[in-house]
Amino acid sequence: MAFSRLITSYTLAKDLLLRGTDNLVNCGDTMGYNRASQSLQARYSSENMLKIEPVAAFSDNYIWLLHDATGAWVVDPGDAAVVIEALETLSRPLLGILITHHHFDHTGGVEELIARYQPRVAGPANHAIKGIQTTLGKGDSVDVLGVRFDVLEVPGHTLDHIAYYAPDHQPEPLLFCGDTLFAGGCGRIFEGTATMMFASLQQLARLPANTRIYCAHEYTLANLDFAAAVEPEAQAIRQRIDRDRTRRAQGLPTVPSQLAEELQTNPFLRCDQPGVEAAAVSHARQALPDAEAVFAKIREWKNHF
Ligand code: ZN
Ligand code: FE
Repeated sequence: MAFSRLITSYTLAKDLLLRGTDNLVNCGDTMGYNRASQSLQARYSSENMLKIEPVAAFSDNYIWLLHDATGAWVVDPGDAAVVIEALETLSRPLLGILITHHHFDHTGGVEELIARYQPRVAGPANHAIKGIQTTLGKGDSVDVLGVRFDVLEVPGHTLDHIAYYAPDHQPEPLLFCGDTLFAGGCGRIFEGTATMMFASLQQLARLPANTRIYCAHEYTLANLDFAAAVEPEAQAIRQRIDRDRTRRAQGLPTVPSQLAEELQTNPFLRCDQPGVEAAAVSHARQALPDAEAVFAKIREWKNHF
């Protein structure tokens, strides 16, 4: 039990050798972090693969920790203590922080981590978030340990919400989407409108089906209970509930998930499906003109589920 917060390990990136020398000397510079001084040997060593670990925080948050032999980045560090514990266990310095939105459970640890490690800090253009050096919006990208993440604007849960998408990562693209798309569900609409949230989720739904989805909360089983209420006949949802109940019983996270399974089982990505539409119409007791109206209705239904 040296380290219970680092729940399990996912080795997701392969060999830096595949990336070529250009990437080696240029990487990190979107953020102004000069990695060129690191030795070739370190960058090419077999230990030097990107790994991604969930660090559990509060009752149900995941702070995603990305690391290779050179150091670590974290996404949405709401709590500094659990991140420090994880970094000490891994013996890695914190090189950078990515933030998806301003909520305290995603940003509460930033100032303490800056004071301790002086990492690069990037996030949305919201002055209310303390510590951000590089503000990011649509069209920007950020280099994290040699992997390029493109910034997607996904307002709805909050107005400032952004997501980080790595299209070229092998063997599959990566998405860190905070509280926008959850495994089996989606975030509540606190600041935006249903129109905004629907458009944001549609943007994510168009990513490649093999994209790995790293959301920020362990809400999956509750989300899937709702999914089963919306589509009671759906076998894929039943199977996902069985699998994810087993994972939770073993103390394992249910995330990351894959976009393909979200498209099959997440009602908020299925608002154009006849079964989801019929359930929404029956709940609303009125006709609904389009998929966006179906989305608005099932999002509201979930709030009271
Ligand atoms: Zn939030
Ligand atoms: Fe949150």
